[in-house]
Amino acid sequence: MATTAEIVERCQALFDDLHFETARAWKSAEPGRKVVGYMPIYVPREIIHAAGMLPLGILGGGDQLEVIHGDAYYQSYICRIPRSTIELGVSGRLDFVDGMLFPSICDVIRNLSGMWKLMFPEVYVRYFDVPQNYVDEIGGNYYVNELRELREGLEQLGGRKITDEALSRSIAVYNENRRLVGAVYDFRAERPWQAPASDVYLLTRAGMVLPVEEHNALLQDYLTAARAEEKPLRDNCRVVLTGMFCEQPPLNLIKSLELSGCYVVDDDLMLITRWLLDDVPTDGDPLDNLAKAFLHQSTATAAKYEPDLKEKGQHLVRAVRRTGAEGVIFAAPSFCDPALLDRPMLQHVLKAENIPYIAFKYAENSGQMQPIREQAGTFADSIKLWSET
Ligand code: SF4
Repeated sequence: MATTAEIVERCQALFDDLHFETARAWKSAEPGRKVVGYMPIYVPREIIHAAGMLPLGILGGGDQLEVIHGDAYYQSYICRIPRSTIELGVSGRLDFVDGMLFPSICDVIRNLSGMWKLMFPEVYVRYFDVPQNYVDEIGGNYYVNELRELREGLEQLGGRKITDEALSRSIAVYNENRRLVGAVYDFRAERPWQAPASDVYLLTRAGMVLPVEEHNALLQDYLTAARAEEKPLRDNCRVVLTGMFCEQPPLNLIKSLELSGCYVVDDDLMLITRWLLDDVPTDGDPLDNLAKAFLHQSTATAAKYEPDLKEKGQHLVRAVRRTGAEGVIFAAPSFCDPALLDRPMLQHVLKAENIPYIAFKYAENSGQMQPIREQAGTFADSIKLWSET
C-alpha cells in the first residue's frame, strides 16, 4: 500500500509538469483520442468524458512559468491567470489540446475565450455560459440548451454521437469522484493534522490532469493511507479559506498558512470537484439531470448569483459551524472582481456572527511569503489567546 508521502510525491510531479506529459501520453496511447481543456471554475466534465475525451484542467502557469509573451496581450491591472494561460498557449505547451472551454466567471475569462478563438482557429473553443436564474422553466431550459450545444460541439469534434447511456455512465463516475473528494475534505476537517492542506490541494489538483477513474483510485488510496498513519497534532487554529476559486495561490502560500499556525479545514480551491453538492441521478434524461443539479444543488461562490439576500454568505457560516473552524481567511487573486466585490458582503455576514477573519491578496507567482506568514500567524495567535480568556 502506498504511503501518503508517496501519493503526494506523484501529485507534486503532476503539478510541476507544465508540459502536461501525462495528458499527452494519454492522447497518444490510442489513435483518435482528443483532449479538451477547461478553465476554472466549473464545466460539466461528464459530457467530455462521455465523448471519450480527456477533460484537462488549465489553471494558469503558477509560479514556475515565466510570462514572456502573455503580458503583451493584457493590461497590467488584471489578474495573472489569463496572461499565464496565453503564455502556455503561445509557447506550445497546449499544442495537443483539441478543445478549450471557458466557463462564465468574469469578463477576463470571457475575453480570453474570444482571444483563444482568434489565436488558435484550429481548436474547438466554447465560452460556456451558465444561467443566473434558477427557475427550471427559465434558467433550466436555457442551461439544457447550453449543455445540448456543448454536446453537439463535442460530437462534431470527436466524430461520434454521445449517447444518453454514455452520459449517465460518466455521471456515475463523477458522482464517485465527488463522493471521494468529499470524504477527503471530511477527513481533513476532522483530523487536519493527518491531511495537510498542501497534500489535499495537490491531491485534488491531480484530478485536473488524470483520467477520472485514475483519480478516483488515487483518492481512495490516499484516504486509506491517511487513516492508517499517525501524525503529530499541533496547537493550530482551524480556518476556512475562501476566494481562491480561480487563479491558484502558489503552493508555498498554502504551506505558509499551515506553518504559521493554521489548520485549513475547508476551502474553495478546485471547486469543480465539489461544485455539485449531491449525486446527480443516473436515470432519466442526463442533460436534465445535470441542469437540475446545477440549479438546485450547486455550491455557493462569488461567481454565482445568489437571489436570496438572506442566504448571502451563509455558506461560509455553515462551513465554519460544520468544520468547527475558528476563523476565516479571505485570500483572493489581485484584481479578481468576483472575489473582491463579494468580500465586503461576506465579511459583513461573518461580523454579525462574531466569526473572526483576515484578508489578503496574492498572485499565482507571489514570492514573498513572510508578510502572509506574519499576518496568518498573528491571526492564529489572537484566536488562541482570545479563546483562552
Ligand atoms: S482570477 Fe478572478 S478576475 Fe481573474 S479570471 Fe479568475 S475570476 Fe476572473
